Amino acid sequence: MFRSWFRIPLWKRVLVALALGVVAGIALGEDAQSIKWIGDLFIRAIKMLVVPLIFFSLVSGITAVGDVGRLGKVGGKAMLLFMTTAIVAVSLGMGLSALVQPGTGLTIALPAGTDVPPPPDQSLVAMIISLVPENPIMAMAQGAILPVIVFAVLFGVAILVSGKDGAPIARAMNSGSVVMQNMTIFVMELTPFGVFALIAWVAGTFGFDALLPLGKLVALNYVGCGLILLVVYPLILRFIARLPVRDFYRGIVDAQAVAFSTASSNAALPVTLRCVERNLGVSNSIASFTVALGATINMNGTAMYLGVIALFGAQAYGIELTWMSYVMIALTATLGAIGAAGVPGSGLVMMSLVLTSIGVPLETIAFVAGINHLLDMMRTMTNVTGDATVAVAVGRMAGEIDVAEYRSADDV
Ligand code: ASP
Repeated sequence: MFRSWFRIPLWKRVLVALALGVVAGIALGEDAQSIKWIGDLFIRAIKMLVVPLIFFSLVSGITAVGDVGRLGKVGGKAMLLFMTTAIVAVSLGMGLSALVQPGTGLTIALPAGTDVPPPPDQSLVAMIISLVPENPIMAMAQGAILPVIVFAVLFGVAILVSGKDGAPIARAMNSGSVVMQNMTIFVMELTPFGVFALIAWVAGTFGFDALLPLGKLVALNYVGCGLILLVVYPLILRFIARLPVRDFYRGIVDAQAVAFSTASSNAALPVTLRCVERNLGVSNSIASFTVALGATINMNGTAMYLGVIALFGAQAYGIELTWMSYVMIALTATLGAIGAAGVPGSGLVMMSLVLTSIGVPLETIAFVAGINHLLDMMRTMTNVTGDATVAVAVGRMAGEIDVAEYRSADDV
């Protein structure tokens, strides 16, 4: 019985749970409140992962570079492209969400007793200062994610600087990252139950009307990813790499298919590497560095998604956003996308970081968790395509791409 449960792919179980949750919520009405605790448990489990997941995956991503000289040269270019595309992606997400207003039909009062921090009310200077933790352990204990990220980046660079002496800890960080990814998978197994309870609570408390914006959300996320794939990446390929776009898409299709069906950048990593090296002619060293680092930190689909959901949550809860909130969304969504591991559902984990930073209740996750896999597939494909785009651009800039091979991508 157990075995046959686990044999069903998670996303199917989640979709069934979503449908059953709607039915149960409508049947139970207000009484659905009594099972909400199962959903709360799920949200707590997600929050439990955030700090260690970010720390280990960031540090191991940086140490994967190899040495400091290389980190400076190739890493600088790759990082610039990673950051620029992430900011473009999150802005696109916020723009689309502001335009379509997917949460607006949904007027939900803040649930009584919700423990939500007030919206950020700091000057930019105070915010910049607070990025540096006085005590990293305290920052972790308090769940202050941004200072933890700053510490993790410096820690990763320091490991690289330490050379041989740093190697054991680099290995430990890498193994920590693998362990946290597996732990994320455990928590994702709770998704059907969490989704069932949360959606039943939503449907029972707010009725069918509350579920209509989900359709809009799916469409919005697909359109956003589509724009990144068909406009943003082609611009990079055309103007930075100065290479034809059609050959790129022919060469990368296998990696896209694996990314779409597994919803995991990590699962797609071997195929992406192969496509970038064999089909697109990027040198082994550039490909392995850029694609491996990219699978950990370059997630434009995820950044776009976080931007969409942040505004969706604010609209649904009637929370007014200040210009500071938009800066916080751009910052936390970019950093959240960097911190998200390349495993299914990690974007969902990062959503709590973005929502908390602008004072939007984490129950927003209830609206999104049920359709998460559907969005995850598309954003993962977008993430993986972004890794390959950056690899091609960096390879071209470093003169380490075989253009003839790139152009014959369709022969492979
Ligand atoms: N599943 C995505 C990836 O592996 C991350 C996310 O959940 O957004 O790229």
